[in-house]
Amino acid sequence: MALRFYNTLSQQVEDFTPASQNTVRMYTCGPTVYDFAHIGNFRTFTFVDLLRKCLRANGFQLNHVMNITDVDDKIIRNAVASHQPLAEYTKTYTDAFLDDCAALRLERPERLASATEHIPEMVAAIQRLGDGQHTYASDGSVYFKIASFPQYGKLSHNDFSGNLAGARVDVDEYEKADARDFALWKTPKDDEPFWDTAIGPGRPGWHIECSVMAIKYLGETLDIHAGGVDLIFPHHENEIAQSESLTGKPFSRFWLHAEFLMVEGQKMSKSLGNYYTLRDLMGKGHAPESIRYLLASVPYRKSLNFTIEGLKSAAIAIKRLRDFKLRLETERFAEGLNEKMAVRTVHASQAFTDSLNDDLNTAEALAAVFKFVRDANSAMDSGEFRAGNTPAALEFLALFDCIFDVLKPSVKAGGLSDSDIEERAARRTAAKKARDFALADRIRDELLEQGIVLEDTKSGVRWKRK
Ligand SMILES: [Zn+2]
Repeated sequence: MALRFYNTLSQQVEDFTPASQNTVRMYTCGPTVYDFAHIGNFRTFTFVDLLRKCLRANGFQLNHVMNITDVDDKIIRNAVASHQPLAEYTKTYTDAFLDDCAALRLERPERLASATEHIPEMVAAIQRLGDGQHTYASDGSVYFKIASFPQYGKLSHNDFSGNLAGARVDVDEYEKADARDFALWKTPKDDEPFWDTAIGPGRPGWHIECSVMAIKYLGETLDIHAGGVDLIFPHHENEIAQSESLTGKPFSRFWLHAEFLMVEGQKMSKSLGNYYTLRDLMGKGHAPESIRYLLASVPYRKSLNFTIEGLKSAAIAIKRLRDFKLRLETERFAEGLNEKMAVRTVHASQAFTDSLNDDLNTAEALAAVFKFVRDANSAMDSGEFRAGNTPAALEFLALFDCIFDVLKPSVKAGGLSDSDIEERAARRTAAKKARDFALADRIRDELLEQGIVLEDTKSGVRWKRK
Protein backbone atom coordinates (compact mmCIF):
# COMPACT_ATOMS: atom_id res chain seq x y z
CA MET A 1 0.00 0.00 0.00
CA ALA A 2 1.26 3.45 -0.91
CA LEU A 3 1.84 5.87 1.92
CA ARG A 4 -1.16 8.11 2.47
CA PHE A 5 -2.21 10.78 4.94
CA TYR A 6 -5.33 12.66 5.86
CA ASN A 7 -4.74 16.23 4.72
CA THR A 8 -6.54 18.81 6.87
CA LEU A 9 -6.40 21.24 3.95
CA SER A 10 -8.29 19.03 1.46
CA GLN A 11 -10.16 17.03 4.12
CA GLN A 12 -9.21 13.92 2.13
CA VAL A 13 -6.87 10.99 2.53
CA GLU A 14 -4.24 11.51 -0.18
CA ASP A 15 -1.28 9.48 -1.45
CA PHE A 16 1.95 11.09 -0.33
CA THR A 17 5.26 11.57 -2.10
CA PRO A 18 7.60 14.55 -1.76
CA ALA A 19 7.27 17.21 -4.47
CA SER A 20 10.85 17.03 -5.63
CA GLN A 21 13.53 14.38 -5.53
CA ASN A 22 13.29 12.01 -2.63
CA THR A 23 13.47 14.42 0.29
CA VAL A 24 10.49 15.36 2.44
CA ARG A 25 10.62 19.02 3.43
CA MET A 26 8.70 19.15 6.68
CA TYR A 27 8.02 21.80 9.30
CA THR A 28 6.52 21.10 12.70
CA CYS A 29 5.62 23.60 15.37
CA GLY A 30 7.84 23.16 18.39
CA PRO A 31 7.50 24.09 22.04
CA THR A 32 7.12 27.48 23.65
CA VAL A 33 9.82 27.22 26.28
CA TYR A 34 8.27 28.90 29.30
CA ASP A 35 7.75 25.73 31.39
CA PHE A 36 8.29 21.94 31.24
CA ALA A 37 6.35 20.40 28.36
CA HIS A 38 3.39 18.26 29.44
CA ILE A 39 2.26 14.86 28.28
CA GLY A 40 -0.28 16.39 25.86
CA ASN A 41 2.55 18.24 24.11
CA PHE A 42 4.48 14.99 23.92
CA ARG A 43 1.59 13.24 22.24
CA THR A 44 2.09 15.57 19.29
CA PHE A 45 5.87 15.28 19.37
CA THR A 46 5.64 11.47 19.51
CA PHE A 47 3.31 11.56 16.51
CA VAL A 48 5.88 13.66 14.65
CA ASP A 49 8.56 11.11 15.56
CA LEU A 50 6.44 8.24 14.21
CA LEU A 51 5.79 10.28 11.08
CA ARG A 52 9.52 10.77 10.56
CA LYS A 53 10.22 7.08 11.01
CA CYS A 54 7.43 6.01 8.65
CA LEU A 55 8.57 8.46 5.99
CA ARG A 56 12.06 7.01 6.28
CA ALA A 57 10.75 3.45 6.20
CA ASN A 58 9.17 4.40 2.85
CA GLY A 59 12.61 5.25 1.50
CA PHE A 60 12.35 9.04 1.78
CA GLN A 61 14.99 11.32 3.20
CA LEU A 62 14.05 14.04 5.63
CA ASN A 63 14.66 17.71 5.88
CA HIS A 64 12.67 18.60 8.95
CA VAL A 65 12.69 21.93 10.77
CA MET A 66 11.14 22.56 14.16
CA ASN A 67 10.98 25.93 15.85
CA ILE A 68 11.68 26.74 19.45
CA THR A 69 9.47 29.66 20.47
CA ASP A 70 11.77 31.46 22.88
CA VAL A 71 9.94 34.77 23.00
CA ASP A 72 6.23 35.30 23.68
CA ASP A 73 3.90 36.91 26.22
CA LYS A 74 4.24 34.18 28.84
CA ILE A 75 8.02 33.92 28.50
CA ILE A 76 8.44 37.67 28.87
CA ARG A 77 6.10 37.75 31.86
CA ASN A 78 7.88 34.87 33.62
CA ALA A 79 11.40 36.07 32.79
CA VAL A 80 10.64 39.58 34.04
CA ALA A 81 9.06 38.15 37.21
CA SER A 82 12.09 35.97 37.91
CA HIS A 83 14.54 38.82 37.12
CA GLN A 84 16.28 36.69 34.51
CA PRO A 85 17.34 37.69 31.02
CA LEU A 86 15.10 36.06 28.36
CA ALA A 87 17.88 33.87 26.99
CA GLU A 88 18.80 32.53 30.41
CA TYR A 89 15.19 31.84 31.33
CA THR A 90 14.40 30.01 28.08
CA LYS A 91 17.64 27.99 28.07
CA THR A 92 16.51 26.09 31.17
CA TYR A 93 13.31 24.95 29.48
CA THR A 94 14.84 24.38 26.06
CA ASP A 95 17.41 22.06 27.63
CA ALA A 96 14.69 20.32 29.65
CA PHE A 97 12.60 19.84 26.51
CA LEU A 98 15.50 18.29 24.61
CA ASP A 99 16.29 15.98 27.55
CA ASP A 100 12.65 14.88 27.67
CA CYS A 101 12.66 14.23 23.92
CA ALA A 102 15.79 12.11 24.30
CA ALA A 103 14.16 10.11 27.13
CA LEU A 104 11.15 9.47 24.86
CA ARG A 105 13.51 8.55 22.00
CA LEU A 106 12.19 11.31 19.77
CA GLU A 107 14.63 11.92 16.96
CA ARG A 108 16.08 15.39 16.71
CA PRO A 109 14.81 17.18 13.57
CA GLU A 110 17.46 18.06 11.03
CA ARG A 111 17.26 21.64 12.28
CA LEU A 112 15.96 23.34 15.42
CA ALA A 113 15.34 27.03 14.83
CA SER A 114 15.00 29.56 17.65
CA ALA A 115 12.71 32.53 17.07
CA THR A 116 15.13 35.00 18.68
CA GLU A 117 17.87 34.02 16.22
CA HIS A 118 15.73 35.08 13.25
CA ILE A 119 14.57 38.58 14.17
CA PRO A 120 16.13 40.36 11.14
CA GLU A 121 14.45 37.89 8.74
CA MET A 122 11.10 38.44 10.46
CA VAL A 123 11.47 42.22 10.26
CA ALA A 124 12.28 41.94 6.54
CA ALA A 125 9.21 39.73 5.99
CA ILE A 126 6.96 42.19 7.83
CA GLN A 127 8.35 45.00 5.67
CA ARG A 128 7.63 42.99 2.51
CA LEU A 129 4.09 42.28 3.72
CA GLY A 130 3.73 46.02 4.28
CA ASP A 131 4.90 46.72 0.70
CA GLY A 132 2.13 44.37 -0.45
CA GLN A 133 -0.52 46.28 1.53
CA HIS A 134 -1.08 43.37 3.93
CA THR A 135 -0.29 45.28 7.13
CA TYR A 136 -1.11 48.38 9.12
CA ALA A 137 0.50 49.96 12.17
CA SER A 138 -1.26 50.99 15.32
CA ASP A 139 0.26 52.30 18.56
CA GLY A 140 3.71 51.05 17.53
CA SER A 141 2.57 47.49 16.72
CA VAL A 142 2.13 46.08 13.21
CA TYR A 143 -0.91 43.95 12.32
CA PHE A 144 -1.70 41.59 9.48
CA LYS A 145 -4.83 42.73 7.65
CA ILE A 146 -6.73 39.51 7.03
CA ALA A 147 -9.12 41.26 4.64
CA SER A 148 -6.08 41.37 2.30
CA PHE A 149 -6.09 37.55 2.09
CA PRO A 150 -9.51 36.43 0.82
CA GLN A 151 -8.70 32.71 1.25
CA TYR A 152 -8.44 33.17 5.01
CA GLY A 153 -10.19 30.20 6.64
CA LYS A 154 -9.27 27.58 4.01
CA LEU A 155 -7.40 25.31 6.45
CA SER A 156 -9.84 25.46 9.37
CA HIS A 157 -12.75 25.39 6.89
CA ASN A 158 -14.33 28.36 8.55
CA ASP A 159 -16.33 30.68 6.35
CA PHE A 160 -15.17 34.13 7.31
CA SER A 161 -16.65 35.92 4.28
CA GLY A 162 -18.18 39.21 5.33
CA ASN A 163 -16.29 39.01 8.61
CA LEU A 164 -12.76 39.80 7.54
CA ALA A 165 -12.49 43.44 8.55
CA GLY A 166 -12.35 45.23 11.81
CA ALA A 167 -11.35 43.79 15.14
CA ARG A 168 -7.77 42.93 15.95
CA VAL A 169 -6.11 40.91 18.61
CA ASP A 170 -2.89 41.44 20.52
CA VAL A 171 -2.41 38.16 22.33
CA ASP A 172 -0.71 35.20 20.73
CA GLU A 173 -3.53 32.80 21.37
CA TYR A 174 -7.18 33.46 20.96
CA GLU A 175 -9.94 30.97 21.36
CA LYS A 176 -12.95 31.78 19.28
CA ALA A 177 -13.14 30.93 15.63
CA ASP A 178 -13.69 34.50 14.59
CA ALA A 179 -11.37 36.29 12.26
CA ARG A 180 -9.14 38.93 13.77
CA ASP A 181 -6.25 40.92 12.48
CA PHE A 182 -3.25 39.59 14.36
CA ALA A 183 0.00 41.16 15.52
CA LEU A 184 3.10 40.61 13.41
CA TRP A 185 5.20 42.92 15.55
CA LYS A 186 4.43 44.01 19.07
CA THR A 187 5.50 47.20 20.69
CA PRO A 188 7.06 46.68 24.15
CA LYS A 189 5.07 47.47 27.27
CA ASP A 190 6.74 49.16 30.23
CA ASP A 191 10.05 47.44 30.98
CA GLU A 192 9.64 44.47 28.63
CA PRO A 193 12.69 43.36 26.67
CA PHE A 194 12.64 44.37 22.97
CA TRP A 195 14.65 44.47 19.75
CA ASP A 196 15.40 47.82 18.13
CA THR A 197 14.66 47.44 14.43
CA ALA A 198 13.76 49.29 11.23
CA ILE A 199 10.06 48.80 12.01
CA GLY A 200 10.47 50.16 15.51
CA PRO A 201 11.26 48.66 18.90
CA GLY A 202 9.41 45.45 19.78
CA ARG A 203 9.29 41.73 19.30
CA PRO A 204 7.76 39.37 16.75
CA GLY A 205 4.33 37.77 17.07
CA TRP A 206 4.20 33.99 17.35
CA HIS A 207 2.75 33.29 13.89
CA ILE A 208 5.37 35.14 11.81
CA GLU A 209 8.27 33.15 13.25
CA CYS A 210 7.02 29.87 11.78
CA SER A 211 6.34 31.32 8.33
CA VAL A 212 9.75 32.97 8.15
CA MET A 213 11.82 30.06 9.44
CA ALA A 214 9.94 27.48 7.36
CA ILE A 215 10.44 29.41 4.13
CA LYS A 216 14.05 30.25 4.96
CA TYR A 217 15.11 26.64 5.46
CA LEU A 218 12.63 24.64 3.40
CA GLY A 219 11.55 26.85 0.50
CA GLU A 220 8.25 28.47 -0.42
CA THR A 221 6.15 25.30 -0.56
CA LEU A 222 6.63 22.60 2.08
CA ASP A 223 5.69 18.96 1.64
CA ILE A 224 4.29 18.58 5.16
CA HIS A 225 3.39 20.97 7.94
CA ALA A 226 2.29 19.28 11.16
CA GLY A 227 1.27 20.04 14.72
CA GLY A 228 -1.54 19.59 17.21
CA VAL A 229 -5.19 20.22 16.25
CA ASP A 230 -5.22 23.21 18.58
CA LEU A 231 -2.86 24.93 16.13
CA ILE A 232 -5.16 24.70 13.09
CA PHE A 233 -6.85 27.92 14.09
CA PRO A 234 -5.60 30.54 14.42
CA HIS A 235 -1.88 29.66 14.28
CA HIS A 236 -1.69 27.64 11.07
CA GLU A 237 -4.40 29.70 9.37
CA ASN A 238 -2.29 32.77 10.13
CA GLU A 239 0.90 31.09 8.93
CA ILE A 240 -0.83 30.41 5.59
CA ALA A 241 -2.09 34.00 5.30
CA GLN A 242 1.40 35.43 5.93
CA SER A 243 3.36 32.92 3.86
CA GLU A 244 1.09 32.91 0.83
CA SER A 245 0.86 36.72 0.89
CA LEU A 246 4.67 36.77 0.84
CA THR A 247 5.26 34.19 -1.89
CA GLY A 248 2.04 33.88 -3.90
CA LYS A 249 2.50 30.08 -3.66
CA PRO A 250 0.78 27.38 -1.59
CA PHE A 251 2.58 27.25 1.77
CA SER A 252 2.33 23.50 2.37
CA ARG A 253 1.00 20.59 0.30
CA PHE A 254 0.00 18.49 3.31
CA TRP A 255 -1.23 19.59 6.73
CA LEU A 256 -1.30 16.89 9.42
CA HIS A 257 -2.77 17.41 12.87
CA ALA A 258 -2.69 15.24 15.99
CA GLU A 259 -5.80 15.13 18.17
CA PHE A 260 -6.03 16.07 21.83
CA LEU A 261 -4.94 14.02 24.78
CA MET A 262 -7.25 13.52 27.75
CA VAL A 263 -6.09 12.27 31.14
CA GLU A 264 -8.32 9.75 32.91
CA GLY A 265 -11.16 10.85 30.62
CA GLN A 266 -10.86 14.53 31.44
CA LYS A 267 -9.22 17.55 29.96
CA MET A 268 -5.80 17.86 31.55
CA SER A 269 -5.59 20.74 33.98
CA LYS A 270 -3.45 21.69 36.92
CA SER A 271 -6.51 22.29 39.10
CA LEU A 272 -7.85 18.76 38.48
CA GLY A 273 -4.51 17.29 39.54
CA ASN A 274 -4.26 15.30 36.29
CA TYR A 275 -1.59 17.49 34.75
CA TYR A 276 1.56 15.51 34.03
CA THR A 277 4.93 16.46 32.73
CA LEU A 278 7.20 13.66 31.54
CA ARG A 279 9.28 14.21 34.68
CA ASP A 280 6.22 13.73 36.92
CA LEU A 281 5.54 10.32 35.35
CA MET A 282 9.16 9.17 35.36
CA GLY A 283 9.38 10.31 39.00
CA LYS A 284 6.53 7.91 39.77
CA GLY A 285 8.64 5.10 38.33
CA HIS A 286 7.09 4.80 34.87
CA ALA A 287 9.64 3.90 32.21
CA PRO A 288 9.90 6.43 29.38
CA GLU A 289 9.42 3.65 26.84
CA SER A 290 6.03 2.79 28.43
CA ILE A 291 5.00 6.42 28.04
CA ARG A 292 6.24 6.43 24.46
CA TYR A 293 4.36 3.21 23.72
CA LEU A 294 1.10 4.54 25.16
CA LEU A 295 1.40 7.82 23.26
CA ALA A 296 2.17 5.96 20.04
CA SER A 297 -0.47 3.25 20.38
CA VAL A 298 -3.51 5.36 19.53
CA PRO A 299 -3.72 6.59 15.89
CA TYR A 300 -2.89 10.30 15.88
CA ARG A 301 -6.27 11.44 14.56
CA LYS A 302 -8.13 9.84 17.48
CA SER A 303 -8.17 11.55 20.83
CA LEU A 304 -6.07 9.64 23.34
CA ASN A 305 -7.18 8.90 26.87
CA PHE A 306 -4.00 8.77 28.91
CA THR A 307 -4.46 6.74 32.11
CA ILE A 308 -2.14 5.26 34.70
CA GLU A 309 -3.85 1.92 34.02
CA GLY A 310 -2.97 2.39 30.34
CA LEU A 311 0.65 3.03 31.27
CA LYS A 312 0.76 -0.23 33.23
CA SER A 313 -0.72 -2.10 30.26
CA ALA A 314 1.90 -0.48 28.03
CA ALA A 315 4.65 -1.79 30.31
CA ILE A 316 3.14 -5.29 30.13
CA ALA A 317 2.89 -5.12 26.33
CA ILE A 318 6.54 -4.10 26.07
CA LYS A 319 7.58 -6.89 28.43
CA ARG A 320 5.70 -9.41 26.30
CA LEU A 321 7.59 -8.25 23.23
CA ARG A 322 10.96 -8.27 24.99
CA ASP A 323 10.32 -11.76 26.36
CA PHE A 324 9.44 -12.93 22.88
CA LYS A 325 12.61 -11.44 21.45
CA LEU A 326 14.67 -13.07 24.20
CA ARG A 327 13.04 -16.39 23.45
CA LEU A 328 13.89 -16.06 19.78
CA GLU A 329 17.48 -15.20 20.63
CA THR A 330 18.14 -17.87 23.23
CA GLU A 331 15.92 -20.90 22.74
CA ARG A 332 17.21 -23.78 20.62
CA PHE A 333 14.63 -24.75 18.04
CA ALA A 334 14.69 -27.87 15.91
CA GLU A 335 16.48 -27.43 12.59
CA GLY A 336 14.57 -26.72 9.41
CA LEU A 337 11.87 -24.27 8.38
CA ASN A 338 8.16 -24.33 9.14
CA GLU A 339 6.63 -23.11 5.87
CA LYS A 340 3.36 -22.06 7.47
CA MET A 341 5.18 -19.97 10.05
CA ALA A 342 7.34 -18.43 7.33
CA VAL A 343 4.24 -17.33 5.43
CA ARG A 344 2.67 -15.95 8.61
CA THR A 345 5.78 -13.88 9.27
CA VAL A 346 5.64 -12.36 5.80
CA HIS A 347 1.93 -11.58 6.19
CA ALA A 348 2.37 -10.04 9.63
CA SER A 349 5.18 -7.84 8.39
CA GLN A 350 3.09 -6.74 5.40
CA ALA A 351 0.06 -6.00 7.59
CA PHE A 352 2.27 -3.95 9.90
CA THR A 353 3.66 -1.82 7.07
CA ASP A 354 0.28 -1.44 5.35
CA SER A 355 -1.35 -0.24 8.58
CA LEU A 356 1.29 2.40 9.16
CA ASN A 357 1.14 3.54 5.55
CA ASP A 358 -2.60 3.95 5.97
CA ASP A 359 -2.38 7.35 7.68
CA LEU A 360 -0.23 5.95 10.52
CA ASN A 361 -2.74 3.48 11.88
CA THR A 362 -0.58 2.47 14.82
CA ALA A 363 -3.36 0.51 16.55
CA GLU A 364 -3.70 -1.89 13.60
CA ALA A 365 0.06 -2.10 13.21
CA LEU A 366 0.37 -3.18 16.86
CA ALA A 367 -2.49 -5.65 16.43
CA ALA A 368 -0.51 -7.31 13.61
CA VAL A 369 2.55 -7.56 15.86
CA PHE A 370 0.72 -9.11 18.79
CA LYS A 371 -1.18 -11.58 16.65
CA PHE A 372 2.15 -12.73 15.28
CA VAL A 373 3.72 -13.00 18.75
CA ARG A 374 0.78 -15.11 19.93
CA ASP A 375 0.98 -17.42 16.90
CA ALA A 376 4.75 -17.76 17.12
CA ASN A 377 4.75 -18.41 20.87
CA SER A 378 2.23 -21.21 20.49
CA ALA A 379 4.18 -22.63 17.56
CA MET A 380 7.24 -22.63 19.82
CA ASP A 381 5.32 -24.31 22.63
CA SER A 382 4.13 -27.07 20.30
CA GLY A 383 7.55 -27.52 18.73
CA GLU A 384 6.42 -26.38 15.28
CA PHE A 385 8.62 -23.31 15.26
CA ARG A 386 11.96 -24.12 13.64
CA ALA A 387 15.40 -22.59 13.78
CA GLY A 388 14.95 -21.46 10.17
CA ASN A 389 11.99 -19.28 11.20
CA THR A 390 14.06 -17.26 13.65
CA PRO A 391 15.84 -14.77 11.36
CA ALA A 392 12.60 -13.57 9.70
CA ALA A 393 10.85 -13.27 13.07
CA LEU A 394 13.73 -11.21 14.46
CA GLU A 395 13.69 -9.09 11.31
CA PHE A 396 10.00 -8.39 11.83
CA LEU A 397 10.67 -7.32 15.41
CA ALA A 398 13.45 -5.05 14.15
CA LEU A 399 11.03 -3.50 11.64
CA PHE A 400 8.56 -2.93 14.47
CA ASP A 401 11.24 -1.38 16.65
CA CYS A 402 12.46 0.91 13.84
CA ILE A 403 9.14 2.72 14.28
CA PHE A 404 7.99 2.11 17.86
CA ASP A 405 11.46 2.01 19.44
CA VAL A 406 10.60 0.44 22.80
CA LEU A 407 12.45 -2.88 22.89
CA LYS A 408 15.72 -1.65 24.31
CA PRO A 409 15.31 -0.84 28.01
CA SER A 410 16.37 2.60 29.18
CA VAL A 411 19.53 2.30 31.21
CA LYS A 412 19.06 4.14 34.48
CA ALA A 413 21.82 6.49 35.54
CA GLY A 414 24.46 4.41 37.29
CA GLY A 415 22.91 1.22 35.91
CA LEU A 416 24.84 -1.65 34.39
CA SER A 417 25.55 -1.73 30.68
CA ASP A 418 24.79 -4.85 28.61
CA SER A 419 28.46 -5.86 28.55
CA ASP A 420 28.73 -5.44 32.35
CA ILE A 421 25.81 -7.80 32.78
CA GLU A 422 27.15 -10.32 30.30
CA GLU A 423 30.50 -10.32 32.03
CA ARG A 424 28.85 -11.02 35.42
CA ALA A 425 26.61 -13.72 33.98
CA ALA A 426 29.72 -15.41 32.56
CA ARG A 427 31.49 -15.22 35.93
CA ARG A 428 28.47 -16.85 37.56
CA THR A 429 28.46 -19.66 35.00
CA ALA A 430 32.17 -20.23 35.65
CA ALA A 431 31.53 -20.26 39.43
CA LYS A 432 28.82 -22.88 39.01
CA LYS A 433 31.08 -25.01 36.87
CA ALA A 434 33.68 -24.82 39.61
CA ARG A 435 30.91 -25.81 42.05
CA ASP A 436 31.31 -22.51 43.92
CA PHE A 437 27.56 -22.14 44.41
CA ALA A 438 27.87 -19.46 47.09
CA LEU A 439 29.67 -17.14 44.66
CA ALA A 440 27.21 -18.00 41.88
CA ASP A 441 24.28 -17.14 44.10
CA ARG A 442 25.88 -13.91 45.27
CA ILE A 443 26.41 -12.74 41.67
CA ARG A 444 22.80 -13.59 40.84
CA ASP A 445 21.52 -11.68 43.90
CA GLU A 446 23.68 -8.64 43.19
CA LEU A 447 22.31 -8.49 39.65
CA LEU A 448 18.78 -8.89 40.95
CA GLU A 449 19.32 -5.89 43.20
CA GLN A 450 20.10 -3.87 40.08
CA GLY A 451 16.93 -5.09 38.41
CA ILE A 452 18.60 -7.78 36.25
CA VAL A 453 17.01 -11.23 36.22
CA LEU A 454 19.10 -14.25 35.24
CA GLU A 455 17.27 -17.30 33.99
CA ASP A 456 18.76 -20.74 33.53
CA THR A 457 17.28 -22.34 30.43
CA LYS A 458 17.94 -25.51 28.44
CA SER A 459 20.03 -23.44 26.07
CA GLY A 460 22.04 -21.67 28.74
CA VAL A 461 21.76 -18.54 30.84
CA ARG A 462 19.77 -15.58 29.63
CA TRP A 463 19.14 -12.24 31.32
CA LYS A 464 16.64 -9.46 31.19
CA ARG A 465 15.95 -6.17 32.89
CA LYS A 466 12.94 -6.26 35.18
ZN1 LIG B 1 4.04 27.23 14.14
